[in-house]
Parts: sequence; structure tokens; C-alpha cells
Amino acid sequence: MYSQNPVFIPGPTNIPEAIRKACDIPTLDHRSPAFARMFKPAVAGVRRVLKMEEGEVIVLPSTGTGGWEAAITNTLSLGDTVLAARFGMFSHRWIDLCQRHGLNVQIIETPWGQGAPIDRIEAALKADTGGTIKAVLATHNETATGVRSDIAALRRAIDAAGHGAMLMVDGVSSIGSMPFEMTAWGVDIAVAGSQKGFMLPAGLAILGVSPKALAAMESATLPRTFFDFRDMLKSYAAGGYPYTPAVGLIAGLARSVEMLEEEGLDAVYARHHRLAEGVRRAVAAWGMRPCAASPELYSDTVTAVLVPEGCNGTDLVKLAADKYGMAFGVGLGEVAGKVFRIGHLGMLNDVMVLAGLATAEMCMADLGWPVRLGSGVAAAQEYYRGSAGTLALAA
Ligand code: PLP
Repeated sequence: MYSQNPVFIPGPTNIPEAIRKACDIPTLDHRSPAFARMFKPAVAGVRRVLKMEEGEVIVLPSTGTGGWEAAITNTLSLGDTVLAARFGMFSHRWIDLCQRHGLNVQIIETPWGQGAPIDRIEAALKADTGGTIKAVLATHNETATGVRSDIAALRRAIDAAGHGAMLMVDGVSSIGSMPFEMTAWGVDIAVAGSQKGFMLPAGLAILGVSPKALAAMESATLPRTFFDFRDMLKSYAAGGYPYTPAVGLIAGLARSVEMLEEEGLDAVYARHHRLAEGVRRAVAAWGMRPCAASPELYSDTVTAVLVPEGCNGTDLVKLAADKYGMAFGVGLGEVAGKVFRIGHLGMLNDVMVLAGLATAEMCMADLGWPVRLGSGVAAAQEYYRGSAGTLALAA
């Protein structure tokens, strides 16, 4: 038995009926022209979502983690130095993955709740006069803390330092839900996953790769086979795939891009902003605050709510699942127990979010937290009533 309730975890997200149907296709010979007819529009669509004017899109049967691995193994060599700030579980995991691949990671430790520290990154790049740092890694949207980093500012910092490092961005929980400008921000590798803004089941890592990263690919020596961009690109050019593709997911990806574009990417981003703002109003009405330290850091796809002293966020998540069949995200790593997370990305609208907020309040009341039933819901209702609403996403 599965709960039919929408989920409020920050991915995987709710899957629109149209996408579920699009994924449900008979077996198709991936060496036939029918595959190319399906694959090409999906790839072209991803290019538009990433706002890529040049470079290549790579679609791998994997998840975001595989996307991280593909990004580094295709462009770097054993012992290369990369620069990364650590300010949450996902920035930490990418760093860990790099270290396990034998890269030297210059880590900028940053308090959780903050974003990528642009000034410190710029200073580190300026200090690297020998050009040792080959890539700067940035987590656009730190899903553990609900923090957005300013990638355009990061690009300006790299340029201001006059440094030639590649810029690799984890957009797993932002791409397709929050503005992303691969070419304008000078991103060399962007990593996304199918199960977040693209509203698909997990199973695809989706990457944008710039011409500079493609050039780095030629001399990179970290071992890769399954994730080798060279094999991918050779097969794509011939209308195929180097091995058996996840054909159903790729069919769903094409439909996902259509849905995003039918709504309009700017409208999708505006919807996410409104949904997030309603959640934030509710959080304030509960007398709580987001883990993100200041408003410019607030993520529009996930809010990590700092729970009152003496309360445990994991208790709320467990109760919501057990008693009400509703999924929220637990706190991870350093903020385990200190937060619970409300995912507000993908196929969601005002009324769905209100159901999530109401359920969170019931759990708080059940747990004896100092929150008045209806307070957060009312704050979100007032905001949604008063701001230009969007209709429910067409299913
Ligand atoms: N990066 C971010 C920002 C994420 O939120 C996640 C997963 O939630 C990942 C990477 C890892 O992706 P996956 O779980 O698809 O491997």
C-alpha cells in the first residue's frame, strides 16, 4: 500500500500523471531510429532548461551522485586539486567523492546555513598563482540546509581572480525549479538528477558540459568507463547510446521538458518562489526560522526548519509518516534532529502545500510543540490568496 498523499521531501518529487504515462512505453529497440527520435528532443529540451548555448548535454543512467562522479572523472586526473566549500551534507558528499577518487580537495569550511563564501573562494583563487586549482565545485542549492548559493557571483569571483579553473555546479535540487543559466554564468559542468525539478522517477543523471570541460576531457586520466563522455558523444552522434539506455525515463524526460515549457520556465520559477514564500510565512507564524542564515540564501525548493529547543525534527518526520502518511525530510549530518525539511519543488501547487503545512502542524500539536493549530496554514493562505496564483499543474 502506498500513500496517495503528495510528498514534501526535497526529492524525489511528485510525478505528474502525464510523465508517468510517458515513461510507460513498450520495449523499444535502442539501436533503431525510433530511439533517436525520442532522445534528440529530450536532449534539446535539457539544453534549453540549462540555458546552454554551447557544449553538450549528457544523459546517464544514474543519479545525481553518478553525475558528480562523471563530472570529475571525465575532466580531472589523479592528484589534481579542486576547491570546494563545505556547508551541508551534499557539498560534503561531493568533496568525499572527490577524495575517494584521489583528488586533492582544498576545502573551505563554512558554517551550515551559509552558502558558498564567494570572498574566500576568490581569495583562495588569487593565492593560487601557479594555477594548481583545476576546478571550483559549488553546490547551487544545498538540500540539507535549504541554502541557495549565488553562482553568477561565483563566476564573477573566478574572473576577478583571473583564474582559469573550471566551474562545476551541483544543480541537483535547483535545475528545473530555480533559475539556472549555464552559459551566462560560465558553468563548465552542471549536474542535475531526473527525480527533482524534472519530476521523473530517479534514474537519470543529466549533465551540461561546456566546451572547456570537453577540452579537459581529452587529457583527463581519472578512470571511467560506464560514465565516459567520449563514448556517449560518439554514440549520440550516430543516433544511439553506448549501452542500453533507460528508454522509459528518457521518454519521460522529453515529456517533462514539454511540461516545464508549456508552463514556461519563468512561470515555473515564479511558482516555486511563491510556494517557498508561503512556507516561509508559515514557519515564521510558528515562531521558527529557516536554517538558511539570511533571506538572500533562502532556497525556493526546500526549507529546512529549525525546530524549537527541546524538540526533535526527526520525531515530526516519523510521526507524519506513521500517523498521517505524509513525507517530510529529516535533518542530515550536523543538523540531524535540529531541523525538519519541507520540500516544495516539482509538481506542487498552493493547495498541496497547504495540506503539507496543516499536517506538519498536526504533528507539532501531537508532539506537544508550542505551536497553535492553523497559525502557519493561515499565514500561507493569506499569502497565496494575495499573490498572483497559478493554477494546478496540468496532470
Ligand atoms: N546533490 C544534491 C544537492 C542533492 O540534493 C542530492 C540528493 O538529494 C544529490 C546531490 C545526490 O543525488 P542522488 O541522490 O540522486 O544521487
